[in-house]
Amino acid sequence: HVARTQAMQDARSGLPILGMEQEIMEAVAENDVILLCGETGSGKTTQVPQFLYEAGYGSSEFLDRVGRIGVTQPRRVAAIAAAQRVAQELSTPIGATVGYQVRYDKKISPKTAVKFMTDGILLRELQADFLLRDYSVLILDEAHERSLNTDLLLGLLSRVVPLRKQLAAEQPGILPLKLIIMSATLRVEDFAANSNLFPTPPPIVRVPARQYPVTVHFARRTELHDYVGTAFGKVCQIHERLPPGGILVFLTGQREVEYLCRRLRSKFDVRHSAAEPAGRDAEAESEARQAADAFGADEAEQQGDADFEGRDAVHDDFETEEALEDEDDVVVMGGEGFTPEQITAAEARLDSQLGTKLGAMKGAEKAGGPVKVHVLPLYAMLPRAAQAAVFGAVPEGARLIVVATNVAETSLTIPGVRYVVDAGRAKEKVLDTHGAASKYEVAWISKASAEQRAGRAGRTGPGHSYRLYSSAHFNDNFPQHGDPEVLRTPLEGVALVMKAMGIDKVTNFPFPTPPDRAALAAAQACLQALGALDSTGALTDLGRAMAVLPLSPRPSRMILQVAKEAAASRKRSGDALSYAVALAAVISVESPFVHIDGIMAREGESEESVRRRRQSASSAHKRLRVARSDVLSALAAFCAYNNATDREGFCRETYLHSRNLREASALHRQLVHALMHMGEKVAAFSGGKAMEDLLKSADTLDKPSPTVLMQLQRAITAGWADQISRRVHSIEYVQEHSTSSKGRARAVRYTPNALDEQVYMHPQSALAKAAPEFVAYTQIVRTAKRPYMTGVTEVEA
Ligand code: ADP
Ligand code: MG
Repeated sequence: HVARTQAMQDARSGLPILGMEQEIMEAVAENDVILLCGETGSGKTTQVPQFLYEAGYGSSEFLDRVGRIGVTQPRRVAAIAAAQRVAQELSTPIGATVGYQVRYDKKISPKTAVKFMTDGILLRELQADFLLRDYSVLILDEAHERSLNTDLLLGLLSRVVPLRKQLAAEQPGILPLKLIIMSATLRVEDFAANSNLFPTPPPIVRVPARQYPVTVHFARRTELHDYVGTAFGKVCQIHERLPPGGILVFLTGQREVEYLCRRLRSKFDVRHSAAEPAGRDAEAESEARQAADAFGADEAEQQGDADFEGRDAVHDDFETEEALEDEDDVVVMGGEGFTPEQITAAEARLDSQLGTKLGAMKGAEKAGGPVKVHVLPLYAMLPRAAQAAVFGAVPEGARLIVVATNVAETSLTIPGVRYVVDAGRAKEKVLDTHGAASKYEVAWISKASAEQRAGRAGRTGPGHSYRLYSSAHFNDNFPQHGDPEVLRTPLEGVALVMKAMGIDKVTNFPFPTPPDRAALAAAQACLQALGALDSTGALTDLGRAMAVLPLSPRPSRMILQVAKEAAASRKRSGDALSYAVALAAVISVESPFVHIDGIMAREGESEESVRRRRQSASSAHKRLRVARSDVLSALAAFCAYNNATDREGFCRETYLHSRNLREASALHRQLVHALMHMGEKVAAFSGGKAMEDLLKSADTLDKPSPTVLMQLQRAITAGWADQISRRVHSIEYVQEHSTSSKGRARAVRYTPNALDEQVYMHPQSALAKAAPEFVAYTQIVRTAKRPYMTGVTEVEA
């Protein structure tokens, strides 16, 4: 009952996993749990679900295999891409036999036999049905990534599987559940030899590695600051000097990715696509600045901070010629599974397949025109259609250049990549002091990640990986493996989910890697401060309502605070709830205000003109701001943006980031949609009123009224109750403050209630001048010099 096109069959036949169908299916038949590991690109994600489907899982014809095949992915991008690919291989429309579900988006029908989803979705389903009766097989994919949700699922499923087995023996309507844990060839022992999870170790099925050799080139020096610029230089060299083949660049985040794409397109003269309106210069500039900032310092601070290691590297150009030819630090890796003849043949095939393209490229060069490039971004928040473009056809005579975050590291395989440019960094969640907060920080990747990245160049033939760091730096500063997310993230969300699932002793949970006790204690303290748990650690009604909302505990708490007040008083406008939901969306994206210091001279622009632009940005922001709060200022900007007839124009005039606002709008729509569908579940808390009644005005948010702002201010205090700081009034401080140089307000010092260190009010905050006695903050951002509070709101004492 499976119809694949000839082309699809050919594409499949080259995959190493295809020869293992029988072995895998036998292992599945004989065991409840198996581990399947194999190199990225070997066909695990796309083929194993098809093996299961063809063996009758997910079909109603086999009575012992009724129930869907569920496949989890840590990333949305991967869940959707994999579903689309498998649907395509089976020649069925997406949402029929093969579907997907990610937060806020679902293409599933009753007929769906193979369901791809994010691990978060399955976690929510587990809360509704601990037996997961919907499924006959579950595949936890990318388990090596050790995402928090995957780890939780592993812990939970290690209990669900034996439970299903036991019940299947006792009750007729229940069938056993099969679990397949899939991972790249990394740290399989973490799951296999973990008696916490599985008393008898599950069998490991290994897909033979087939990887063409990849020549790894280390840079002479490690660029510590402008690695985006270095990456740009490297891509240009490869494109201009090396034979055809796709280039895959690894950077850390969306902004850097978009920025490098723009730079490459403008260098190689690619016209802006419709989705990318030209003339967002202020925004682009500021983004580039923020990209540089992401590494931990803003300009003013860098000046006084000359003792960075290798500071001199900043101004040295990457040695172009040598770096491309430098044989000092070259390592060849991979090449297993192929004979030397096969490798040579693959190389020849690549050259000849791409030969027509090379011809076209040379032709274009001769004609004096630029050699074409096909530059595509790839990151998690990219709209669906743009994500799919990386798998699409490359225009004749053009070189594919994909600029990606680490989504392209193991979860997605981009065809035709021959060169990898690896900046060696990733944006990672790291835990702040005491495990109370986490933030995203750009950090060195692990050696294992660097290897995965390099491996992306060896899928279709021998390739090259250019690392923008030295081998000494790699050896000394890159950890062997990254820490699992459970060790790098605050656990209040997890603790709340567990409590809601009836797991009282969170410390007894079978985590694949148990988190620090201190982190669990911090989570408990946070939930108590928010009122989700009572003093004995038991879940309160409020906590139960919070666990239902599709948001993390703090914004959930904020929304419920407003809901409660709205329910208590008919007179107060129910409007505030709509604004609270919008605020939750706005808080989840980066600030909509363009950073004033990021506005820098354009080519040939006079200093006077830059100053004027900064001035007008500053006064535009002032008009939009709400004196008492950064996050409410962002909300006000969001409302003004939504009401503008020409939104892009409005952003240009008022120096706002249109992308952040578009993102917030999308998130807001999704949130309203999600809340509408769970109205009655939270009604108990909002005084019997369904969310629907209170959300009616969600799409017509005018400027928030002073009453609404006050309600929201109180709600923020409730949601961030354990992130409140008090201003420091010391003699030294007052003196320092009064003698501030440059006429600029100095950063005011505060003492947070939950940290034993002092933090500062950010000079760009709406409250920088007022510096009220008590403030709540959403985040601590650490620059090279000091910790700053961001997203600050005045708290009325
Ligand atoms: P694994 O999960 O082992 O990393 P996948 O099943 O994701 O491997 O991919 C196997 C192969 O299928 C890849 O090497 C690639 O050639 C092809 N492939 C996967 N997804 C797509 C897609 N969306 N478009 C085109 N080819 C794809
Ligand atoms: Mg995969």
